[in-house]
Amino acid sequence: MATETMLSDVFPLGSRLNEAGRLEVGGCDTIELAREFGTPAYVVAEDDLRSRARAFLDAGRQAGRQSGHEDFHVVFASKAFPCTAVLALFAQEGLWCDVASGGELHLALNAGFAAERIVLHGNAKSAVELRTALERGVGLIAIDNFDEIDRLQRLVESHGAGGAGGSSDVQRVLLRVTPDVRGETHEKISTGQADSKFGFSVADAAQAIERVQAVDGLSLAGLHAHIGSQLLDLEPFRREVAELAKLGDFEVWDLGGGLGARYTADQPQPPSIEEYVSTLLAGASAHGMGAPGRRLLIEPGRALCANACVTLYTVESVKQNVSRWVAVDGGMSDNLRPMMYGARYEAHVADRFDGDTRCELAGKHCESGDVIVREALLADPRPGDVIVTPATGAYGYAMANNYNGVPRPPVIFCKDGDARLAVRRERFEELTARDVG
Ligand code: PLP
Repeated sequence: MATETMLSDVFPLGSRLNEAGRLEVGGCDTIELAREFGTPAYVVAEDDLRSRARAFLDAGRQAGRQSGHEDFHVVFASKAFPCTAVLALFAQEGLWCDVASGGELHLALNAGFAAERIVLHGNAKSAVELRTALERGVGLIAIDNFDEIDRLQRLVESHGAGGAGGSSDVQRVLLRVTPDVRGETHEKISTGQADSKFGFSVADAAQAIERVQAVDGLSLAGLHAHIGSQLLDLEPFRREVAELAKLGDFEVWDLGGGLGARYTADQPQPPSIEEYVSTLLAGASAHGMGAPGRRLLIEPGRALCANACVTLYTVESVKQNVSRWVAVDGGMSDNLRPMMYGARYEAHVADRFDGDTRCELAGKHCESGDVIVREALLADPRPGDVIVTPATGAYGYAMANNYNGVPRPPVIFCKDGDARLAVRRERFEELTARDVG
């Protein structure tokens, strides 16, 4: 009989195989969930999200006590899972929120984040996005480039900081700096290298600082950097802190996100949340960023939500040529990461975990590259079987699309055996909802 011990921490906290050998997430039987809500579906263990948020905050409190750094905030990078239920949960847990567009700003405000706890990022912010941020009283705008300084200056000079309706006299801003630190990760998600599209180069930082300080309606609170995503080594974060510290003494230091997650049980463990936070805080203190009156922000996305979610699919067909092709009812429309980054996942039949049939788990889309998991070991899958891929909480829902006219899946929140629909499945009518002619 299947036992709980077969599940690795790639699965959401509290997941287990029940007496019938079926996967349970948040106390809910995934075969029942597939029956009730259909597939594909994102299944989120609510307690997992909460416990990771609390782990970050606790780690900050603990490391802060040791390093003397008390003013520490965890800013959820909303791009990782921009779903209202997820955002609202993190707002409740006391996190702040990072947004990278007007749309993400709308989502964050709508989910209940106080405007002053929101940080706006982006390398190509429009005047409308900036003006909305000013009007809504966003806490910090991370300025990316000289053109944006000009644009913001024009806005605060013509409307005042706080835009047309805001209350504050000055808008607090950060400068995004690219510290020329490269961590080991996929090139598409590496951002700290000198030749990055994000931020000011170290060489331009001094001029940018001067330019912002000369604008009456702007107050330069500090610096921001984000060196990359899915980083499994802490050394680049130490270098990031050291490089930033060379640029001056500021009130706010926003060190970005980037802590990696484990996607398959055979991948190495990433550093723990505690190790990551204590490394950043120790580095910050060593470089004077922990002095009284200094505020430290970090912006985890993936590490907060990747492992909190699994995706359920149903097998539509099985065929054998050189390989055994198991085709399911989703694919690159609900998880673009295998196509974008060659990302690896694991897969299981949700009620027969101990599989040894080598299969290519294929998506339903008209692209040969639409393969969700290559060389998955599955238990003789047949049409109608429910397949589960764990660790799909980060950048899955976020990058979901309608390729081949496939409606986007629902998000189901599970807790203590209760399942609630947080986002319903998209309908075919919604595929034509924006047509005007
Ligand atoms: N902050 C910024 C500015 C980012 O661009 C990103 C990701 O692209 C993040 C935070 C979150 O990164 P991660 O999900 O790797 O923690």
